[in-house]
Amino acid sequence: MAPVELNGNARPLGATPAPSSSSNSNLNAAGYVRTSNILVLGLRRSGKTSILEVVFKNLSPKHTLYIDPSIRIQRLRIDSAIPLEFWDCPSNVALPTLPLQQFSTVLFVIDMQDTFSYSIPKLIDVVTVMYQTNPEINIEIFVHKADALADDYRIETYRHVQQRVFDELTDTNIDVDSLQLQFHLTSIWDHTILESFSQLVQRLIEPLPYLEELLNVFCANSRLLKSFLFDSNSRIYVATDASPVDGNTHTLCCDYVRMLSDFAPLYCKSVEDNPKDASTWSNSSIRLSPDTSLVYWQITRNLCLVVTIPTDVYLNRRGLIEYNLVFFRQGVQEILDLDASERSRKPGDSTSPS
Ligand code: GDP
Repeated sequence: MAPVELNGNARPLGATPAPSSSSNSNLNAAGYVRTSNILVLGLRRSGKTSILEVVFKNLSPKHTLYIDPSIRIQRLRIDSAIPLEFWDCPSNVALPTLPLQQFSTVLFVIDMQDTFSYSIPKLIDVVTVMYQTNPEINIEIFVHKADALADDYRIETYRHVQQRVFDELTDTNIDVDSLQLQFHLTSIWDHTILESFSQLVQRLIEPLPYLEELLNVFCANSRLLKSFLFDSNSRIYVATDASPVDGNTHTLCCDYVRMLSDFAPLYCKSVEDNPKDASTWSNSSIRLSPDTSLVYWQITRNLCLVVTIPTDVYLNRRGLIEYNLVFFRQGVQEILDLDASERSRKPGDSTSPS
C-alpha cells in the first residue's frame, strides 16, 4: 500500500531517496570525526547557562535571574533525533585542556549590552584555536539578549558585531571564506532562541535532506500549509518543509507543543508498551481561525509533527491524511534507525566521550 495524494494520485513515500548505509559521511574530508558534541563558550553572564536551561529544561526565562554562575564545565546530554551533548564552560576555561577534536560545533554567546572589548577578542581566539584543530568546525555566534535593546539599535548593533568579527578575522591567518560561521540574533524571551537552536541542530543531522524531502512529499500529498518536525521536549524543530518559515507560525507551533507536553502526563498512555500500535500515539488539533487549523501528531517517542492546514481539508480528508501519516512515520523511523546504526558503527565517534 502507498500513501495517497489528496488529488487522488498515489505517490509512494518510499520513492524518497534513502541515505546510503555504506557512506562514511560522519568523517569530513580531513578525516576528523563529526560528532554531536557542542562546546558552549562566552564571557561570564553572557547568558550561556540560561539558554540551555530555557531550551532543554523548560526553565521559565524569568527564573534565569537566579541561576548560579558556572564554576566548572557542565555537560548536558540530550536525546533528540540525534544524541547531542552540550559542554557549558565557565568563561575562564583553558581550551587546550579540552578534547577539542570531539566537538563538531562551537556555540559562542555574546551579550549585546556589552561593549565587545573583551567578548570579540575572546571569540577570535576561540575561532583561531578551533579552526586549527578542525577547519570544518561549525561556529555559531549567538548575539544574545536582543530583547534588551530598542528595535533600531538592535539591528545596528547586530550588524556592528558581524562587521567587527569579520574585520578581526581577516587580520588572522584564517581563510574566512572557508569558515563555517553563522550569526544569530537571540533572546530567551521570544522564539528566536528556539529558531536559532533549530538551525544549529539541523546542521548536525546527517539525514536532514531525507527528512525534509519526506516532509515536502507529505505536505504536497496532504495539502498542508506548513509543517515542522519538532523534538517534543525542547521544541527545537529538527526539520521543516521547503516553504519559508514565518516567525508567527513557528511561535504558534512551539506554544502548542509546549502546552501539549505540559498536559501530556495527565493523559499519557505509554507507547513503549506497544510502539507499533498507532492508537498509542498522541494526536491533537485546534482551529486557529475559521480557515486554518493546527494539528499535532506524535511521530516517535521524541519527535512530533505539527502542521497548519486549511480547516476544510482537515475536516473532509482526515482519513486520507492519517493514512499518509502512517507512511511518513515509517519513513522517519527508518531514516533515524539507519542514522543511529551508522553512528554506532563509526570508529572513533565520540558522541559519548568519557
Ligand atoms: P552565563 O554566566 O553565561 O552562564 O550567564 P547566565 O546564564 O548565568 O545569565 C546571566 C544573566 O543574563 C541572567 O541574569 C539572565 O537572566 C540574563 N539573561 C540570559 N539570557 C537573557 C536574554 O535573552 N535577555 C535578557 N534580557 N537577559 C538574559
